[in-house]
Amino acid sequence: MKIMVSACLLGQNCKYNGGNNYSEKVTQYIKGHEIIPVCPEVAGGLPTPRLSCEIVKGVVINKDGESKDKEFRDGAELCLQKAFEESVDLVILQSRSPSCGVKQIYDGSFTGKLIDGHGVFAELLIQNGIKVIDVEDLFG
Ligand code: SF4
Repeated sequence: MKIMVSACLLGQNCKYNGGNNYSEKVTQYIKGHEIIPVCPEVAGGLPTPRLSCEIVKGVVINKDGESKDKEFRDGAELCLQKAFEESVDLVILQSRSPSCGVKQIYDGSFTGKLIDGHGVFAELLIQNGIKVIDVEDLFG
């Protein structure tokens, strides 16, 4: 299989705080498959580290109240194009991210409250019929 993966799950330090979400289980799962790592926020031109962002009334805003919507959507679009070019079979995404979250995202209040919803990249993939899975659901 060709599998696209949130780069932070593979240990790339592209997370907003400069860290990563390395997952040994993901590393085991993807063994023997062709892997395409992507970080839509970095692809959209955002620096690392960067201020955390949440989606407020459909617009991506950082903690200082500045819109980062264009960067998020540009990056998601670039990564979607890559998914098409590579004909990926599956995309494994990091949970709860305003880009990559598949099941839940933060509610836009920057208080740690979660709501059901998709990140910008996950939403775009789903709209385009690409199979996505939240890393938390990868193991049942
Ligand atoms: S945008 Fe996705 S790949 Fe990039 S750091 Fe956030 S969760 Fe990881």
